Amino acid sequence: MSSRDPQEANIAVVVRVRPRNQKEIRENSPITVTTNGIRGRELHVKANQAEAATKTYSFDKVFGPDAGQDLLFDDVVAPMLKEVLMGYNCTIFAYGQTGTGKTYTMEGDLATIRGEHAGIIPRTLYSLFNTLESGDAGEYSVRVSFIELYNEELKDLLSSEEDFRKLRIFEDYNKKGSVVIQGVEETLVKNAADVIAVLQRGSNKRQIAATKMNEVSSRSHCIFCITVHIKETTPEGEELVKVGKLNLVDLAGSENIGRSGAENRRAKEAGMINQSLLTLGRVINALVDRSPHIPYRESKLTRLLQDSLGGRTKTCIIAAVSPAKCNIEETMSTLDYAHRAK
Ligand code: ADP
Ligand code: MG
Repeated sequence: MSSRDPQEANIAVVVRVRPRNQKEIRENSPITVTTNGIRGRELHVKANQAEAATKTYSFDKVFGPDAGQDLLFDDVVAPMLKEVLMGYNCTIFAYGQTGTGKTYTMEGDLATIRGEHAGIIPRTLYSLFNTLESGDAGEYSVRVSFIELYNEELKDLLSSEEDFRKLRIFEDYNKKGSVVIQGVEETLVKNAADVIAVLQRGSNKRQIAATKMNEVSSRSHCIFCITVHIKETTPEGEELVKVGKLNLVDLAGSENIGRSGAENRRAKEAGMINQSLLTLGRVINALVDRSPHIPYRESKLTRLLQDSLGGRTKTCIIAAVSPAKCNIEETMSTLDYAHRAK
């Protein structure tokens, strides 16, 4: 389909630094992470007062605290959406410590599909329908699913049933490297208005779970998947269906819960989450190193995303960080994780 080298790693790593929050301002925590304006390629981290202690990291892109949701979408997501419309699978991850803006980046304000604070998911759907409706795209269909992965268990956030349905994953023997999720609700969405209703339903379910099970959201991974089918007729009159998929993943908080003296059950949960994040890191490193063995099977998250990571697919990791000194330890560990993926 394309002349792109399938061996190419196709993994981009970008960093987004949020503004200081009220707590950081109130506590007078100094700004220790700076950028070159709203968008550049470098990130400067000041470990202590000495000028020599400033370390500069470079990434594919670095977005500063004043970078808006629209800039992030145009720069990071729009090019991937083009790939999806050409029939490729793409994945975007939001990675980082809790409170650094992962959910803001992925979902943001869901009530307005492209208002100032609308995040990647609503903007993507808006843009997708805009493109599909404006034209030459032929017959198409768009399906979305919204899944939460918590404690290595999958839950369907779009299920119409009162209770959460537990989902199981199986290998798809007809399509090597693909998995099937049994019982998942794949909602057909027809237009932007449909999408708003679907998103709010899913997000509400996630919130209900969060209050019931106390802070589940910081320890769960959330996968929003958009699948686009486009039917085309070639000049020779042959019918062709292109299928592209975009996974938008709001990862669990990357903080080491164990360090703050977590009790056993929590430590276990934390361990599971770290397992998924560590496996994801190992999978990405293996892809970058062109290793012959990619350890997809070592976590549910990477099994789920197996057909959308590596090969001809494109992946982007958005590492979210706080600018404040009080979070420097977690910021450094996020930057190390992100840097290893390059
Ligand atoms: P996470 O999902 O990583 O735990 P959130 O996305 O919930 O973090 O962000 C924590 C808070 O910070 C939220 O109130 C969010 O609106 C705010 N926030 C995060 N990133 C930004 C940003 N770039 N600009 C403005 N506010 C932000
Ligand atoms: Mg969040």
